[in-house]
Amino acid sequence: MATTIIDGRAVAAAVRERIKKSTEEFINRTGITPGLAVVLVGEDPASQVYVRNKHRACGEVGFLSRVYTLPASTTEDELLALIAELNADREIHGILVQLPLPKHISESRVILAIDPKKDVDAFHPQNVGGIMTGDYKFVPCTPAGVMELLAHYGIDPSGKSAVVVGRSNIVGKPQALLLLEKNATVTVCHSRTRDLAAVTRTADILVVAVGRAKMITGDMVKEGAVVIDVGMNRLDDGKLCGDVDFDSVFPVASHITPVPGGVGPMTITMLLCNTLRAAEDAAAKPCH
Ligand code: NDP
Repeated sequence: MATTIIDGRAVAAAVRERIKKSTEEFINRTGITPGLAVVLVGEDPASQVYVRNKHRACGEVGFLSRVYTLPASTTEDELLALIAELNADREIHGILVQLPLPKHISESRVILAIDPKKDVDAFHPQNVGGIMTGDYKFVPCTPAGVMELLAHYGIDPSGKSAVVVGRSNIVGKPQALLLLEKNATVTVCHSRTRDLAAVTRTADILVVAVGRAKMITGDMVKEGAVVIDVGMNRLDDGKLCGDVDFDSVFPVASHITPVPGGVGPMTITMLLCNTLRAAEDAAAKPCH
């Protein structure tokens, strides 16, 4: 059986093209340009790259994009004041505070301060709760991107055994809920899971989001499984690599995402989707 490499770059490009067209139609119809504000506190180089990429992606699909770069010495009150301003700003439909924040600022207080209607990262407890009940507007971008990849390749999770390795609030937990919503039978693994390989070998769909280079090897994967690698690890030689050992898993899997070029390109794409949705909602309910 030939293994299909899931091409995240191609899927992301196709979805962004759709977003660009919808944005054009939306602007023509309403006169409103979807607007995203990205707030960066401090000078973390990786965060600076992420913010630049988000800014560029917004421009490409016709969004208004504002980047607020604040010094690492910014106080929590100053950041909360900016968020209050952005909550009230009618040109801004999505607010994203780039994490991690400097240690003296409480991430949870900052996330709570974002208007849930503008919380395009879907980190606010109200949006997190919506994923639990299946009544949601926004889905965290990375798990949403994984679901989009599965759909694009005609992989229906219904009735399948899905194993998610990792239980973070931004990837593992929402990923498990989204797979459950699509009627997969879901198991979540974490650092205390006993005999990880025995569990991963039961997976028809295996999603790995741990942050440990090449930890999933071919002998841990069932023949014909779909393997989605969320991990992004920087090796000593500077190269990027996933949590899945691509070379040993490739011959076993039916589908596999590469790193780079798999899940990564989908994350910003889903942020654009969420921002357009927020703008559409704001246009439909102009008093809110
Ligand atoms: P976290 O560090 O928040 O979570 C890692 C999870 O892995 C935890 O739940 C942890 O378990 C679990 N874990 C750690 N060691 C093991 C082990 N030996 N066996 C099984 N589970 C283990 O990471 P994130 O979820 O934020 O990110 C995970 C990876 O995905 C990272 O490489 C990150 O860079 C990447 N990422 C990629 C994105 C993209 O756009 N492609 C976006 C977001 C993240 P426990 O809870 O018990 O500690």
